[in-house]
Amino acid sequence: MPAAGALAQGPHAPAAGFRYGAPVTVYRTRFAPSPTGQMHLGHARTHLVAWLRARDAGGRVLMRIEDLDRPRVVEGAAEGLLRDHEWLGLDWDEGPLRQSTRSARYEEALDVLRAAGRAYPCTCSRKDIAQAASAPHDREPVYPGTCREGPTQPWRPRAWRFRVEDADRRGFEDGVLGAVPPPAPDAMGDFVLRRADGLFAYQLAVTVDDADEGVTEVVRGADLVASTPRQLALYRALGLRAPAFAHVALAVDGQGRRLAKRDGAQSIASLRAAGVSPERILGALACSLGLTASAAPVSLAELRGRLDLSRLPPGPARLALAG
Ligand code: GLU
Repeated sequence: MPAAGALAQGPHAPAAGFRYGAPVTVYRTRFAPSPTGQMHLGHARTHLVAWLRARDAGGRVLMRIEDLDRPRVVEGAAEGLLRDHEWLGLDWDEGPLRQSTRSARYEEALDVLRAAGRAYPCTCSRKDIAQAASAPHDREPVYPGTCREGPTQPWRPRAWRFRVEDADRRGFEDGVLGAVPPPAPDAMGDFVLRRADGLFAYQLAVTVDDADEGVTEVVRGADLVASTPRQLALYRALGLRAPAFAHVALAVDGQGRRLAKRDGAQSIASLRAAGVSPERILGALACSLGLTASAAPVSLAELRGRLDLSRLPPGPARLALAG
């Protein structure tokens, strides 16, 4: 077997600049649940989309447990999430990778940003610093830049923030939502990379993980759409290749309320305990995604080949399991 690269040096070496074509990239997506509570119908719905994307493309699904926000991690929740995915048939090919084991890698990335002048220490004591380890569903408070020129209270423990430049406020093309406009300056301020207590922030960790795991498409709930320009700015600053993004509009219950973890009645574990079958849950999810005309029970195998991202409902869809 010739050594790798031997062909390129042989008599038929390509002319400089010649490319054989795009590198073969296998589709890779991930489930990235936070073990802060139980899996509910909304998560299952988004993960069904991710799973179908991967299976229809002959690609791979990675499981990542986003357990960075230690104070909010619930004992046993990670095991429950894994069990619920398995029970629904939403299987994965790699992982679970636990973010709590990855601090050294996040530190390396932070070093790169520090060396490039893109990270600065911040001594402000603000609620947003305290919350930075969790994914900011919907809006995150905007930082006014107080410590940009140097820590204003140098005796205090320091967080690290990303220095956002005007060029970072860019829109992007979303697989479900289409063209997402650039964020307004007052919607994307310097965000936290590492909190003063040493915990790495969601934005940095998720970017490093998605890049290291070779994720080619991130499929997640539309409540994280405002995080994407931040993550795209980090990919550029770190010199990493960004994946595609697809944000699935959230589901609402029969009363039009957003499905939330605290709504225990709609957790997968409670539905399962009440004797509801995976096929009935999949039927309700598929119908709310417009994949089937009715919410009749359906198997994952029957849903293969039916998903077209660009035809998913762009706004909230009703999802309820009639008793
Ligand atoms: N861990 C986040 C959550 O459970 C998801 C983050 C992501 O998909 O980027 O909400």
